[in-house]
Amino acid sequence: MNDLEKAVSKRRTFAIISHPDAGKTTITEQLLLLGGVIRSAGTVKGKKTGQFATSDWMAIEKQRGISVTSSVMQFDYADKRVNILDTPGHEDFSEDTYRTLMAVDAAVMVIDSAKGIEPQTKKLFKVVKQRGIPIFTFMNKLDRDGREPLDLIAELEDLLSIEGYAMNWPIGMGKDLRGLYDRAQKRIELYRPTDEAHRFLPLDPETGQLTEASDLTEESIYQQTLDDVDLLSEAGNSFDLEKIKTGDQTPVFFGSALTNFGVETFLQSFLEMAPAPSTHEINDDSETLSPVDKHFSGFVFKIQANMNPNHRDRIAFIRICSGEFDKGMDVQLTRTGKKLRLNNATEFMSDERENVEKAVAGDIVGLYDTGNFQIGDSIYTGKNPIKFAPLPQFTPELFMRVTAKNVMKQKSFHKGMQQLVQEGAIQLYKTYTTEDYILGAVGQLQFEVFQFRMKNEYNSEVIMTPIGSRTARWIDPEQLDENMSSSRNLLVKDLKGEPLFLFENAFAERWFQDKYPDVKLTAKL
Ligand code: GDP
Repeated sequence: MNDLEKAVSKRRTFAIISHPDAGKTTITEQLLLLGGVIRSAGTVKGKKTGQFATSDWMAIEKQRGISVTSSVMQFDYADKRVNILDTPGHEDFSEDTYRTLMAVDAAVMVIDSAKGIEPQTKKLFKVVKQRGIPIFTFMNKLDRDGREPLDLIAELEDLLSIEGYAMNWPIGMGKDLRGLYDRAQKRIELYRPTDEAHRFLPLDPETGQLTEASDLTEESIYQQTLDDVDLLSEAGNSFDLEKIKTGDQTPVFFGSALTNFGVETFLQSFLEMAPAPSTHEINDDSETLSPVDKHFSGFVFKIQANMNPNHRDRIAFIRICSGEFDKGMDVQLTRTGKKLRLNNATEFMSDERENVEKAVAGDIVGLYDTGNFQIGDSIYTGKNPIKFAPLPQFTPELFMRVTAKNVMKQKSFHKGMQQLVQEGAIQLYKTYTTEDYILGAVGQLQFEVFQFRMKNEYNSEVIMTPIGSRTARWIDPEQLDENMSSSRNLLVKDLKGEPLFLFENAFAERWFQDKYPDVKLTAKL
């Protein structure tokens, strides 16, 4: 292996997907603690660095508790270089959240074991599943009474159609939590060991029984665990690494992020099973690109704008796909053919770390951008142009009518609108006949950022009137009759001029389908 191959093989780049409050922040902190990036819990949310703290953008960020500094977190653990890409939840949910999932090689799904699979997890899961990358599951909050572990595993199959394989199994739960029966590593991990040296008790690999005497064997919850584990072995899914690689089976780990129980066990197994960066299909799928190709390449998956209002600058987040990144290197932008020198880059690694290596495939760099980049752009060095597959479009769920407050300022309104839409910040539709502007987003924050940037960057105040949450469904233009449109199913066209209906709710969509059974409606991702 040459140096580049060695470096790439160490990379593990993933995102955590979960519903708000399942414990993503808490587990992220535990991972950062294990990686030595932070020294105490409670530091991730609201973390800020002096550099960005003064910008107006930070005002929104701070108010909402999101931050560019925690967008990408990097640390070393067990000879691996780990990149965690943040996927914000709540109203911060945006197309960026989805697109971030295009830049990772694996996903970790954190589930609150009292609540099971919740709506946001399901949405994010769908996007990850579609990519066919490995998905690992952490059933969190085991220190509280939750649902039956067997139910939680069954729910994966019922709601997400993914096989679950329990890597470990809880011994008790809530106040009766005693530990984990680790099927994979043939040991028991005690929840509150009398001393650290006795945290792990070995199991006989043949019989699965404890090899040393322990009080546990007297307890009925332990017997229950043994029964469950027997049941899993006989009737459950068998471990299948091939299925894990394609996202058809998810290894399930139980634990409690808050009490730092089972997190390290999870991290160790995860790092062994999760893939290093692999090849990419490029140039309309006509070629494949190796992550250890000597030429640098990458794509823009996210643009965070207006870090400094005086310069209208933004940070373009680049996922490196091949070669090595060097500050000041010259690259070419595939879309425009333009040459760029990457002087102003920020790498998301802690400064204190020894042996800082160059950024390679799997790593993320942030480039200060003055308007060169659009989401989905490819950059490369070398003679042969490289174009990565376009990022998918995601179906917005929230819609607003938008107009300029000052009718005299139509020019700046249209300019800003055009540029922000092009950049991929928000989606634009027009009503079919009157061509009124309608904006679509997957989360409320996207609208706020749009409004803020229109004012700040284009000096255009906009008025936005919510038309609420809608289901967008495209219709074949051949089948379209404009009389099909009503307030419950607003007819609009997208940027390409393709027609779609915005249905008020599922009921309106069913009603429409009953009325026009031959009409085929389609959703994007
Ligand atoms: P996020 O919204 O997914 O980032 O969730 P947080 O990490 O902020 O956690 C939400 C709440 O659940 C916080 O009050 C946490 O302290 C709590 N929490 C997280 N993990 C655990 C856990 O393992 N056990 C218990 N009891 N609470 C937890």
